[in-house]
Amino acid sequence: MTTVNAPFVPPGSGWPGDPATPGTPVARTPQEVRELADRAPTLHELCARESVCRACPRLVEWRERVAVERRRAFADQEYWGRPIPGWGEERPRVLIVGLAPAAHGGNRTGRIFTGDRSGDWLFASLHRVGLAAQPTSVHAADGQRLLGTRVVATVRCAPPDNKPTPAERATCLPWLEHEVAEVAPRVRAIVALGGYAWQGVWPALKKAGYEVPRPRPPFGHGVEVELTPPAGSGPGPVTLLGCYHPSQQNTFTGRVTEEMLDAVFTRARDLADPPAA
Ligand code: SF4
Repeated sequence: MTTVNAPFVPPGSGWPGDPATPGTPVARTPQEVRELADRAPTLHELCARESVCRACPRLVEWRERVAVERRRAFADQEYWGRPIPGWGEERPRVLIVGLAPAAHGGNRTGRIFTGDRSGDWLFASLHRVGLAAQPTSVHAADGQRLLGTRVVATVRCAPPDNKPTPAERATCLPWLEHEVAEVAPRVRAIVALGGYAWQGVWPALKKAGYEVPRPRPPFGHGVEVELTPPAGSGPGPVTLLGCYHPSQQNTFTGRVTEEMLDAVFTRARDLADPPAA
C-alpha cells in the first residue's frame, strides 16, 4: 500500500491540477474562511485556499481517515484527502452546483465528481451534449476538460453518509459565494444537482448580487427560474435549472435517466449559447 502522503497530499507537491502551494494560507475557523475568501485576489487563489481549508473538524477528521483507511479497490492509490475546489473554465457560461465530494471519488482523485459513479453519469451526459471533452472522468491527469462549463460543490469536503451538517454548510458558504461571484459576469445557466444544491446555492447567488425571488421556488427536475444577474454582468437573464442528482440511488431506481440528464444539460447549453436561428 502506498502511504507516502497519507493522510493528505501536501499542497504544491505535484498532484495534477493542485492549485495550492506550500505557502497557501490555511483557514482553521469559520471566521478565517470568511476572511481568506474575502481577500482572495483571483479565482485561482480562491481555489487554492479552498483546497487546504481545515475549518470543519468533523469533516477534516473524516476525509483524512478515509484517505488512510481507503476502499480495498483503491488500496494501492494515494488519496487526495483535502477539500475539492471548483473545477473547469475560469469564465464559464454554464455553472453546475453539486452537494459535496464523495469519500472515494473526489476525496481520492482531487477533482470534483471524478472517480465515482455519479461522476460517470454526469460526465457522460456532459460529453453527449458538448460540455465535456471526454465521456469519462477517472483521475486528475486523464485529460478531461469542461467546455464553457465549471462545476462547484456547496460543501468542499466529503461528509460522512454524504450529509454535511447545517453548520458545516454555513462554514463552507463563503468559498461558494466568492466562486459564484467570480464567474457571474459570463454565466448564463446554473444547474443545481439535487435539492441540497438547490437550497445551498440561493444564499451564494444573493451574496454574488443576483436578485433572487421570494419565496424561493421549490426544487424539481427541469424547474427553471429566471434570475436578474448582478450589475456589470453580460447581457441577458440567467436561468437556474433544477436537475435530479445522478446519485446511485437515483440512477439505480430510474428516478433519473440518461435522457433526463441530457435534456437538462442540453437546455443549459442552449440557454448559455443560443443556437443560431
Ligand atoms: S467543508 Fe468547506 S469550510 Fe469545511 S473544512 Fe471543508 S472546505 Fe473548509
